[in-house]
Amino acid sequence: MKPADVTTIIWGYIALSVTVSIIAAQYLEDRYITATARPFRWGYYCGCMGLACTPLTFLFLFAVIGAANANQWKLVGELSVYTVVSGIQSVCGWFIIKRRWWAWVLSTILSFNIVVWIINWIYGRNRKDDFLGAEVARPLSRATPPAPAAPEPLPLLPPSFVFACLYCSQPITATRDKIGSDGGCPKCHKSITVPQPTA
Ligand SMILES: [Zn+2]
Repeated sequence: MKPADVTTIIWGYIALSVTVSIIAAQYLEDRYITATARPFRWGYYCGCMGLACTPLTFLFLFAVIGAANANQWKLVGELSVYTVVSGIQSVCGWFIIKRRWWAWVLSTILSFNIVVWIINWIYGRNRKDDFLGAEVARPLSRATPPAPAAPEPLPLLPPSFVFACLYCSQPITATRDKIGSDGGCPKCHKSITVPQPTA
């Protein structure tokens, strides 16, 4: 295999990983929406890209073995670093999808990419609570928001009530807005004050 072919395969694999990760991130975003968390599309994308490192880890591992057999120890050292970094990225990828903060930090540092450092630092800082609350992230359906609680019905007050005249015990009907006001008894014509209803 010519070096040009290897380069083509690597770039092809990267392009495939990016495409699959974007699709997977959208899928995960739709499926694992949480009630309180912010959108996590970029986080899922980073996690998927981490998982995409898994085949590369094994590829590097085989290359390490090959180099060791050929007694190319400088190459073994170099490839071992790639194997370890790639392996850590794979594991972090899985735990980033699970919203583990340590995985986010470790994966960001090991990206060795200043642009990723800046983006992920800002992104992670804005979502730190969502990361730490990882254990509450469970599938929730977007279609069924919790039904709002029905308001407590107000006690229905009858608009008028009956009281007895203090002097002649004549039943008198009064409306509630007349409580406390003075008036005359329709029977004995004495001056009375409309009392508070007793029941
Ligand atoms: Zn009376």
